[in-house]
Amino acid sequence: MPLVTHSGFPRIGLKRELKRALESHWRGGTDARALKDTARTLRLSHWQLAHAAGADVVPCNDFSLYDHVLDTAVLFDAIPERYRLVFAENALDGYFAMARGHKRGGHDLHALEMTKWFDTNYHYLVPELQAGQRFALNGDKPLAEFREARSLGLHARPVLLGPVSFLLLSKTVDGSDRLALLDALLPPYADLLGQLADAGADWVQLDEPCLVFDLEDVDRAAYRHAYATLAAARTPRLLLASYFGALGDNLAMAAALPADGLHVDLVRAPEQLDAVLDALPADRILSAGVVDGRNIWRSHPGRVLPLLRKARARIGDERLWLAPSCSLLHVPIDLEAETGLDPQRRASMAFARQKIEELRVYADALAGQPEADAALAAQQGLLDAQANAPGVVVAGVRDRLHALGPQASLRRSAHAARRASQAEVLDLPPLPTTTIGSFPQTDDLRKARAAHRAGKLDDETYEQRLRAEIERVVRFQERLGLDVLVHGEPERNDMVEYFGEQLDGYLFTRLGWVQSYGSRCVKPPVIWGDVARPAPMTVRWSRYAQSLTDKPMKGMLTGPVTMLQWSFVRDDLPRETVCRQIALALRDEVHDLEAAGIGLIQIDEPALREGLPLRRADWPGYLAWAVECFRIAAGGVRDATQIHTHMCYSEFNDIIEAVAAMDADVISIETSRSRMELLDAFARFRYPNGIGPGVYDIHSPRVPGQEEILDLLHKALDVLQPGQLWINPDCGLKTRGWPEVEQALRHMVDGARQLRAEL
Ligand code: GLN
Ligand code: ZN
Repeated sequence: MPLVTHSGFPRIGLKRELKRALESHWRGGTDARALKDTARTLRLSHWQLAHAAGADVVPCNDFSLYDHVLDTAVLFDAIPERYRLVFAENALDGYFAMARGHKRGGHDLHALEMTKWFDTNYHYLVPELQAGQRFALNGDKPLAEFREARSLGLHARPVLLGPVSFLLLSKTVDGSDRLALLDALLPPYADLLGQLADAGADWVQLDEPCLVFDLEDVDRAAYRHAYATLAAARTPRLLLASYFGALGDNLAMAAALPADGLHVDLVRAPEQLDAVLDALPADRILSAGVVDGRNIWRSHPGRVLPLLRKARARIGDERLWLAPSCSLLHVPIDLEAETGLDPQRRASMAFARQKIEELRVYADALAGQPEADAALAAQQGLLDAQANAPGVVVAGVRDRLHALGPQASLRRSAHAARRASQAEVLDLPPLPTTTIGSFPQTDDLRKARAAHRAGKLDDETYEQRLRAEIERVVRFQERLGLDVLVHGEPERNDMVEYFGEQLDGYLFTRLGWVQSYGSRCVKPPVIWGDVARPAPMTVRWSRYAQSLTDKPMKGMLTGPVTMLQWSFVRDDLPRETVCRQIALALRDEVHDLEAAGIGLIQIDEPALREGLPLRRADWPGYLAWAVECFRIAAGGVRDATQIHTHMCYSEFNDIIEAVAAMDADVISIETSRSRMELLDAFARFRYPNGIGPGVYDIHSPRVPGQEEILDLLHKALDVLQPGQLWINPDCGLKTRGWPEVEQALRHMVDGARQLRAEL
């Protein structure tokens, strides 16, 4: 019978127990023992849960107190010099110093850089390496966790990040070649694998997700060299794991590596199965990733069974393992906890536990158990019935999308003409000042929102509270002398949730937490049906704010790509179709704002870049629809209505053409940390529209001085035309305190005045 396995499980705990334990430890509230106890309890209960759900083999060493890439760096002693002292005093403190920085007892260390794990919303810590770097085994985490799992009587498979992906995901601080370090790294890997073999591990999983990237010949050579070296050592059997996409042009190389098994993602790339079966040498195991580890829907037996039957016909039961497409880290733990969901909706969903249960049923069905066959038939029937459930397909939404012509994504005139109309109507000074939307969210405000949600604060009182806050924010901005005001977003807890809650087609879970980084979790909304806007969402707040002042008020919306990117999206429609539906809903909001007298409307797209596919060949397709969706949302408004967008990152080189094609009248971006270097992409492209490069780093409590701001602005004017420059912070101000915001914005406004005098 095929084996049921999975390559990783969520760590944070159903009720975010790990988050609480970590944060309490960081606050000094609990000692390391208490933290480690919580961690062990979570590991044990997760193994037991997976085993009870039907896993034959459970992963171990997939757990992490913060991040598995950081764990790997520490395990092989890739610890940058600056942390060594703290490490020497206390290894756990050293570990957290690398994760979050360290300011204590005379140390002031910044953390490792953090970046997104492939195209997920999980962030890993980027190991810092340098030429001549030495590696050595440090600690015994994988062994200890293997023994721990075994002590429960479980069949456990240690998981390690593979050596080539580890290097490719790292950076060198001296610009030297990462892969040149491979020979230094392999001996401790081999050593560890030998120790795991001694401890009784029959298999080890080596994650090599970089196998789904566009690789250079040197990378492929590194793979061949690394695995030839490891194969020559005494190791358990090796499962090479790829995920998040097709192996594509790396397949021949990957299949030929001397490992004992290959895991492939058959959810993102079901079409690769034939080629994989052709390429796989006859003695290898195939771990078939057939259940989606990146989304929360039940699998379609009608799609999965043919894949499994084909694989089994070619390689037989003994060589076939059933697994989720990737680690279950990217989905919440247990749907059982979602007692508040509509039972119909719930029946079509699967979290980590349910995904393992599904795999069990597939394995049982392949083994010829009639109950399993019946269960799968019932599951397919249920999913088919769901496809016709009210709200899944809404004729009005489909018709509208169908009728959408190319003119929907057009403004009435080109930017130059729009600029003239806007200048006339808006009457702004040169170098206008504005902010990105949110103002400080005080405890008081959060409490009021929680109380209102819990039904303890009536609508009327809550509404009053929000209006008072908006008035305060408006007066504050007037007092400071900002040119374009915002209402401050006091009514929003989260920029996606706020809109999702008002749109048809979205639902929200109670405990659907997914780790974003360290102790930070997000609870992505779920898009299950056609998206439509039953009623205006922001208009009354913007209108109220505008009624308080003669200064222009900027409306504030979250863009379609970001609404998509930060949600779990239905899997029965192409993502671009769902995105177009959201774009249409936002378009209605844009028009209503315009009709309500709001002359500037900002459509935030902070997630546009992170949606970029892993393979470059797929970029143009994605960017085309992402840009089109933004343009649909912004399209059709009057020339005089000024459309802004905001993207809080700075890497524009790869996407500058697409950003220009969005044709927003003004874009604000994050630049203060990079000291304006990031404007280069815009300058080289001769980007013609308005740009507001951030001059205030809102991620830091530090208040920039006026000189510093002026200095940044001068740098901006070296590459931009004065007529296109806007002055604003890097991002929204909601995480900052009022006094620092007041000072920083005052310096910003004064800086603008001075610069105007120089023009
Ligand atoms: N308008 C949002 C705010 O100011 C933008 C947030 C973001 O870019 N992440 O909070
Ligand atoms: Zn931002």
